[in-house]
Amino acid sequence: MNAARPGAPTAVAPGAPTVGLGGRPSVAGDRDLPGHADRIGCTTVNESLYAEALAPFLAETRRLRPQHAEVIDAHTHLGLDEDGRSLSLGQLLSQLDDAGARRACVFPLHDPERRPAYSVPNDRVLAWAEESEGRLAPFCRLDPAEGPVAECERCLAAGAKGIKLHPRAQDFVFDGPEMDEVFKLAEDSGVPVLIHAGRGLPPLADGLVDLALRRPGAVLILAHGAICDQGILTTRLADHPGVLYDISCFFPLDVIELFARVPAERVVFASDPPYGLPATTLYMALRVARQARLDEAATRGLLGGTMASLLDGHGLPPGGAPRRGPSIELSGRLARVYGYASLVGPALFTGVVEQARAMLEMAIAACRDPDPGNVGEALEVVGGALRAASGLLESEDSIRPAIDLVYRAIVRAATELPDGN
Ligand SMILES: [Zn+2]
Repeated sequence: MNAARPGAPTAVAPGAPTVGLGGRPSVAGDRDLPGHADRIGCTTVNESLYAEALAPFLAETRRLRPQHAEVIDAHTHLGLDEDGRSLSLGQLLSQLDDAGARRACVFPLHDPERRPAYSVPNDRVLAWAEESEGRLAPFCRLDPAEGPVAECERCLAAGAKGIKLHPRAQDFVFDGPEMDEVFKLAEDSGVPVLIHAGRGLPPLADGLVDLALRRPGAVLILAHGAICDQGILTTRLADHPGVLYDISCFFPLDVIELFARVPAERVVFASDPPYGLPATTLYMALRVARQARLDEAATRGLLGGTMASLLDGHGLPPGGAPRRGPSIELSGRLARVYGYASLVGPALFTGVVEQARAMLEMAIAACRDPDPGNVGEALEVVGGALRAASGLLESEDSIRPAIDLVYRAIVRAATELPDGN
């Protein structure tokens, strides 16, 4: 598990800025592998600090996970991104192993060698998927400005199992004729289309909805909980027969709320490596599922059952009513911790380390409570994680494990059931 290699280049910011930590040397980025003998002592201390704070989260993951549930990560990348981040086949498979995920959907990053038409990165992903012996389902990434239909047909013939679109990176909306043709192709060939629907987008929801409703045979996977316009998308697509929402999000409230807006059968596990980490996002999936009181069958569907059915050609399972009501009940004590701790990650992503530290100290202070009510154990675990994160932030090499702990802490704080169970 992660405890064994806390410094590994696997920071945890699912749905976080695609200009991630790797683009900012001041926040350590990918330089956190122990490289110099004079840093090894410090790294060892940090490793045990991280491992100790992580242990209760790992134990809880084991407890909550249904036995033999298949885990499929619906959103992973391979190759190189313009922002400096990269992921190799071996690294991705090992991250999936850490989460007990056998399979994943995979597509290129914002690759510097993407022109023309994304053909070079698409071919690389197809080859890596082939090498993975069935573990990776390759999706082809398309640029609407560079012959997307021809590239898509080429990749489908070469074994692609889906299509990936990134309207921010490729700078497009869904009103043009190219997108209609791509959706038609998806409809005709029965492959899903995964669309970045996270931060940083212009208002594109209505154009996307109109197109989706014109081509209802194309199954869509809206990435990052569709946070770019979760209200519009979940409302206007409520009667669409095939829209899935992936949970690669940095803020657990976005995922919690999804269960109030769409059927549990339409929400799928995804972690977005190299920006997120499957094992960490798995913890969120299990916590959110428990908070939404999903039964075991629905939890299995969320973790991988729904994606397995889609990828294996059996279509989507029928969706029921959304499982949650319109409000989120939280312990007031943990809500205070959540409020401060949720500001730490964004401050680190933008390089404002002092602000991150200040918010982290406030979150730690909110965990010190001689009258914890029925959330004493949660405050203890969350406080331990946040204190360890604070220690890790002392060293530039350990910022990514620090973010991992902060992320797990906000997940725990936001998903504790009000009766303390
Ligand atoms: Zn992504």
